[in-house]
Amino acid sequence: MIGPKIRKLTAAQEREAYKLVTERDNGTCVRCGHRGPTERDHRQNRDPFNTVPSNLQLLGGPFGCGCHKWKTENPAAAVLEGFSVPSWARPELWPAWRHDVGWVLYFDTPDSDGAWWKQISQATADLLMNGGTA
Ligand SMILES: [Zn+2]
Repeated sequence: MIGPKIRKLTAAQEREAYKLVTERDNGTCVRCGHRGPTERDHRQNRDPFNTVPSNLQLLGGPFGCGCHKWKTENPAAAVLEGFSVPSWARPELWPAWRHDVGWVLYFDTPDSDGAWWKQISQATADLLMNGGTA
């Protein structure tokens, strides 16, 4: 990851991030909107620093819609469709897809309006995923 070194997150910080994202995603799968049972998924493979809201999402588990399994079995499509972040990218700068909104960039803390993401266009999502800046 490019940028200043950050401290390893504590277990309490990780628990808080999971709780915030479960609320943010309203207990539903971000890919298809299915309501539970969901699993907390790391958009970019978990490391000691990235259990933060911008890198987390709810996806349906094996007893729900199965979207988490889909993501695991289709890694290239999952990146292009906004459910995975490449290892070299920063999660807060990599477009994410929400079934209820479309393309977004997630925040790690809500903005002054209480929003957890900024909606972006398909063109901006394409640009960001091709190395451009918004
Ligand atoms: Zn789903």
